[in-house]
Amino acid sequence: MSTPMPENSSSGLDRDACDELVFKLTKFRNVPDDVLCELVTRDGLCFWAYDREDMPDTSGDDDVDRRLAAWLCAGCPVMDECLELELRAAGEYTVGVWGAMSETDRRAFYPIWRWHRDHPPEDEDEAGEWR
Ligand code: SF4
Repeated sequence: MSTPMPENSSSGLDRDACDELVFKLTKFRNVPDDVLCELVTRDGLCFWAYDREDMPDTSGDDDVDRRLAAWLCAGCPVMDECLELELRAAGEYTVGVWGAMSETDRRAFYPIWRWHRDHPPEDEDEAGEWR
């Protein structure tokens, strides 16, 4: 079975980056939305180190927004949880900075993430374990 790749040519994601993200997020497959939400709002840097209202706006330039996301989320202990939650909650309509990714890259990654959600491994052990 082959997985889809980002169709957006401006995406900063290549095959290796997508594979790595899929692998990291697979462990959340069985974690309920409300648990992820509690973790992100409790531990996410932008929820306690500064106010999301004060975050700079995205520019619409992919490279600039990619750097902005990496800078804003640097050191956040729940990056993966945040990305998983945003993909579930907003899907292809995601906007702004979440999970240390620009909206362009999240939108490009969404179909790949969705495909893996819809095609879970037959062996549940392959789904990984959530800490
Ligand atoms: S990954 Fe970024 S957007 Fe998400 S909670 Fe952490 S700092 Fe906030």
